[in-house]
Amino acid sequence: MVTKRDIVQLCKKLYEKGFVVANDGNISARIHGGFYITGTGSYFSEIDESQIVKLDEDGKPVLGEYSRTDPTSEIAMHLEVYRQRDDATAVIHAHAPYSTAFSLLEENTITCLLTEIKYTLGDIPVAPFAKPGTEEVPESIRDLVKEHDAIILSNHGVLTLGKSLDEAYWNLERVEHFSKICYFSRSME
Ligand SMILES: [Zn+2]
Repeated sequence: MVTKRDIVQLCKKLYEKGFVVANDGNISARIHGGFYITGTGSYFSEIDESQIVKLDEDGKPVLGEYSRTDPTSEIAMHLEVYRQRDDATAVIHAHAPYSTAFSLLEENTITCLLTEIKYTLGDIPVAPFAKPGTEEVPESIRDLVKEHDAIILSNHGVLTLGKSLDEAYWNLERVEHFSKICYFSRSME
């Protein structure tokens, strides 16, 4: 089972990779009887286990389980992924720069021409703009997440999921690397 320590380590990795800065981004994982999720305002470079919040199956913080923050304001987006995908064990939201750059273009889908991505993630949809931290966000991904393990959030960032924390992370790496290659390729046109 995923531990708070696993999530803390992944937060630091995302920061070191430049996929998040400051208190951007959030991570969650399905555990026995509920979830772990990063706390609101947590700085990924300095986060510790006291900033990982334990939630029950309904997504409510577990009483008596100490954490010094409330859950991330994007909690509804994470819970929506778990509602739509029984196979999801982990969800990552980040502002990785190349993927986020794509989120600023008015494109509905980033069509995948790279073989490796075609057979792993497929085309990467861009969810319509939704104001961060509101109910608009889960609504914007509801249908897309049923069929995609990676989604770009319009004018915002990127969301990935996986059967494990590692898989969610690899999907994030894949989207970001793919976005970077697309950037170079389009620059050569
Ligand atoms: Zn964000």
